[in-house]
Amino acid sequence: MSALEQSETTAQHSNGAPPAARGQIAVENPATGEVIGHVDDMRAEQVDAMVERARRAQPAWEAQGFDGRAEVMLELRHWFVQNRDQVIDLLVRENGKTREDALLAELFYVCDALGFWAKKAPKYLADERIKTHSLLLLGKKVFVRYRPHGVVGVIGPWNYPLTNSFGDCIPALMAGNSVVLKPSEITPLTNLMLADVVRECGAPADVFQVATGAGETGGALVENVDMIHFTGSTRTGRKVAVAAAERLIPASLELGGKDPMIVLREADVDRAANMAVQWAMSNSGQICMAVERVYVEEPVYDQFVEKVVARTLELRQGAPGEPGRVDIGAMTFPPQMEIIRGHMQDAVDKGAQVLVGGNAGTGPGRFFEPTVLTGVDHTMKIMTEETFGPVLPIMKVRDADEAVRLANDSRYGLNSSVFSKDVAKGEQVARRLNAGNACVNDALMNYLALEAPFGGSGESGLGARHGAPGIRKYCAAQTILVTRFGPKREPTMFPNTAFKAKAFERLMLLMWGRKPRRKR
Ligand code: NDP
Repeated sequence: MSALEQSETTAQHSNGAPPAARGQIAVENPATGEVIGHVDDMRAEQVDAMVERARRAQPAWEAQGFDGRAEVMLELRHWFVQNRDQVIDLLVRENGKTREDALLAELFYVCDALGFWAKKAPKYLADERIKTHSLLLLGKKVFVRYRPHGVVGVIGPWNYPLTNSFGDCIPALMAGNSVVLKPSEITPLTNLMLADVVRECGAPADVFQVATGAGETGGALVENVDMIHFTGSTRTGRKVAVAAAERLIPASLELGGKDPMIVLREADVDRAANMAVQWAMSNSGQICMAVERVYVEEPVYDQFVEKVVARTLELRQGAPGEPGRVDIGAMTFPPQMEIIRGHMQDAVDKGAQVLVGGNAGTGPGRFFEPTVLTGVDHTMKIMTEETFGPVLPIMKVRDADEAVRLANDSRYGLNSSVFSKDVAKGEQVARRLNAGNACVNDALMNYLALEAPFGGSGESGLGARHGAPGIRKYCAAQTILVTRFGPKREPTMFPNTAFKAKAFERLMLLMWGRKPRRKR
């Protein structure tokens, strides 16, 4: 039986099933409340054994070389395209997202990433010849090579089960590592299915494994692997960083965000309003780089608010079904509803006005209405803490300086956007934002530039995915110096003599002895 059939069978057997047995986690469809499967809640010993198997499998995988590994990636891409409906169905059922989000932001991304890393890994990880400046190294060859860490652990969140979990495994695998992935306990099914698929597409057994379970399972993974990549909340990311520091293993962290959008007076207000609604409400706002707050210059504020309200009222929300049925799906993670309600209550208590939405939707699934707020300020959680819901608070500002000051008044720094038809001015403002990423007259699309590093500053994370840093992080850099034609003895060798000391002193004076001239 294929991996896909197994997963489907599990799901069918589990429908209407009693609560999870001990050692099992029930997986629920957030849009219907129905239990759609069960997965093991793996104990530390099981994770240890998995990592041990991954360690034994890694050398053969590394020995396959870039071409051998690229073949598997391209085979996998073919599999995804052939089996797109089943993958989309499973993503929609375990996450509650729309089919369109599953298609574009997950499947499309992963197919693109498989081809991208298959092609680019040899370039990003090629030996780098270093031309050294040192006179003492004349005639010697220096180069850096990138070798895989061994076993990489990837821990992922529930908002993008494919993109932000399996997506991070692709460069790790292409670099020659074995990978053990711990998906969120809320959305483990798609990744679990892939454990078999990767093997069927040609990877040796145990090169890619999936450890299902809750937080402790993730903790056990950090205790065993050679490098950890984590995507999730800042709170858990901090714990992972501490555990990695204890073991002195490298950690790459993609954490939360409170991304600002700035709309300047000369902006194309229609485009800005469409972008704000799209990227605040998409996937029910459960995107680390969602537009979480907007600052609009006074002259275009009323116009912007009016357009945002009109667009938001047009959105259709509900359980995802056939393509094009709804724009906004369910809230994936139960506790998220309380966080949104808390932020809304706090804002309303402090004087905010709710122009659209503001309430939990009707069941049986979990929904929160697309919501627009004005009259907000930075005393409110809705402007300072990650809400992670379909909620768009809009604040009026006097000028660009005030917008920048408020945008930077945050402990996060993931993505950001500026809207202005004066592109040079937009770029100037973007450069002043304390964020790992910024878009001008756009939002979020920078994530698709797989050649460009994407990482957060401040409490949004450490390290980056994409670009050369996005694969080199899965390797240890080894610097190698080669002397091809070396004399038996070099001037820097023993014995120390007064003559040699004088000669080096003279060389030093010759090179650096002149007093520097100050530039006026
Ligand atoms: P969490 O931090 O709650 O969980 C992330 C993962 O870590 C889950 O698999 C979780 O397991 C696991 N985990 C929990 N405790 C531990 C532990 N002690 N040691 C190791 N692993 C542990 O995040 P969410 O799943 O709630 O994801 C939402 C967050 O992710 C948001 O803050 C969002 O901004 C961020 N995010 C960031 C992205 C980025 O690129 N910067 C992209 C996407 C999301 P379990 O679920 O089983 O508890």
